[in-house]
Amino acid sequence: MFDERSATSQEAIMTRPVFRFAPSPNGKLHLGHAYSALLNQKMATEAGGRLLLRMEDIDHLRCTRENCAAALADLRWLGITFEEPVLYQNERLPAYRTAIARLMDRGLLYVCTCTRKQLSAIKSTAHDPEGQSLYPGTCRSKARVFDRNACLRLDLAKATSLAQMRGGSITWLEKDERVAADARAWGDVVIARKQIGTSYHLSVVVDDAEQGVTDIVRGEDLLHATAIHRLLQVLLGLPVPRYHHHALIRHDTGCKLSKSKADTSLDGLRREGTTAQDIRRMLGFPGSEI
Ligand code: GLU
Ligand code: ZN
Repeated sequence: MFDERSATSQEAIMTRPVFRFAPSPNGKLHLGHAYSALLNQKMATEAGGRLLLRMEDIDHLRCTRENCAAALADLRWLGITFEEPVLYQNERLPAYRTAIARLMDRGLLYVCTCTRKQLSAIKSTAHDPEGQSLYPGTCRSKARVFDRNACLRLDLAKATSLAQMRGGSITWLEKDERVAADARAWGDVVIARKQIGTSYHLSVVVDDAEQGVTDIVRGEDLLHATAIHRLLQVLLGLPVPRYHHHALIRHDTGCKLSKSKADTSLDGLRREGTTAQDIRRMLGFPGSEI
């Protein structure tokens, strides 16, 4: 029999905004992570939305189980609750492979065998938004064998023209403003890293779609990367989330927290006697304790 109540609640779940916090547990979580997680929690609560957690642990050497467990403990200590289950990217390789195969089949990827040494010797005058020399496309038209010591790069010129043919100019909604996504600034980005088999850019778009994420709230260091994400979403036919890039919490010296010497790890602060409420107050979320 048709159960109206469950149909209604199903619909409510479908239409509720979905937020996510997606740390890369390659070390301890610090105040910057706490800010991002608390902002996600606040915005999800205000929007009547859901809040999910994803461990971006594709880098299996640096993102250990211990780091993941410590990150979960820190978030619990801060008083943030996420909907179960937690998604672990290291369990999602088959989904990434499928997406990569789709790009490959359309001739949008090529194998690059350049070594780190060769790449660092590139004296390019053009740089990507993160300040790295643009890859000159050395391997683009060569027949290279793909193995664990090679990576796959996106042929950006091909990819952008295909995407434009499909949907015109690519944009995204940043807070309330529509901005143009110009991925060309990145050159031929790596889509599958050596040894890893995927990349941050590829995994993030595949998983935001898998988790039904509608609202992405993250640090402004990823603002420019959004152009790549939008391009991949168009090429893979994935839904388009809204974006909100927030300012980064900086140390007194102005450097990014993760690079600062002072121990701003949540674990370090807790050991010194800082309470979760102190941290919330310090970061501007005073009333959000549970
Ligand atoms: N895992 C990324 C980081 O910790 C964030 C990914 C995202 O929010 O899109 O920097
Ligand atoms: Zn190469």
